[in-house]
Amino acid sequence: MKLLEDDLSYFNYLEKGFAGEKMFDNLIKEHISIKHIFLNDLLLEHNNTKFQIDSLLFFSNTIHFFEIKNYEGDYYIDNDLWYKSPQKEIKNPLHQLKRSTSLLRGIFQELRINIPIAEHLVFVNPEFHLYNAPMNLPITYPTQLNRLMEKLNNKNNSNINDIHIKLANRILNRHIKEPSFSRLPDYTFDHLEKGITCANCDAFVETYKKTTVTCTYCGFKENITNAVIRSIDEYSLLFPDRKITKNAIQEWCKIASHKTIKRILTSNYNQIGKSISTHYVKQGN
Ligand SMILES: [Zn+2]
Repeated sequence: MKLLEDDLSYFNYLEKGFAGEKMFDNLIKEHISIKHIFLNDLLLEHNNTKFQIDSLLFFSNTIHFFEIKNYEGDYYIDNDLWYKSPQKEIKNPLHQLKRSTSLLRGIFQELRINIPIAEHLVFVNPEFHLYNAPMNLPITYPTQLNRLMEKLNNKNNSNINDIHIKLANRILNRHIKEPSFSRLPDYTFDHLEKGITCANCDAFVETYKKTTVTCTYCGFKENITNAVIRSIDEYSLLFPDRKITKNAIQEWCKIASHKTIKRILTSNYNQIGKSISTHYVKQGN
């Protein structure tokens, strides 16, 4: 569906942030060869305050806390205030880093973890630039990422043992699982565009053959059974209360052939009931 402007910009913001975190995770995976523990995407709470942790990297003598930003374009600092050029004030990410670090320290104290925390604000997008930044800030710029990896890869750090694994597990146990769908826009079955989307590029697939679907945009080919099952999974995720029926899935996938849908449903799902009320549930559910 077409997202409202606010929802769209929130979606872009989430997507960009996620891409940045993934990029950083890959760097760590590729470059850190000494023993370490790496935790991602934690939601923790201290003193009734929830806070997010992008990445924690455990070494034996230091725990590195990374706040990852995928900002793009020119930014500048003026009197402790941060702006995106030309003049849009943004939240000072260093304040966020300080706040999270101090809450994390609180948790460490509670858990009696005595390893020092090193905080990092990491900008991963090569198109990012920051003017007027003093040198002593805990910031890593895109052009310094490789050197940060080299520094972290110092052999003196690598004495990880059971104690560290236990500590990491105790932090993991504090992770709060929250439904991440708290800010979904309103949607209904009738209002969503129907059709199978390409597994590779997410565009709506326009050509269906008997056994394959082919994306007009990127040329990606997928077995039609896989494509339909993937679409049914999306349908079930979006509409947990709606039943999987032949008609609904035919409409959802925009597939003309009743036969094809029936074949896929009967061979991959368990049929419940007969006649009008027939619906299907995923095997194994
Ligand atoms: Zn495609």
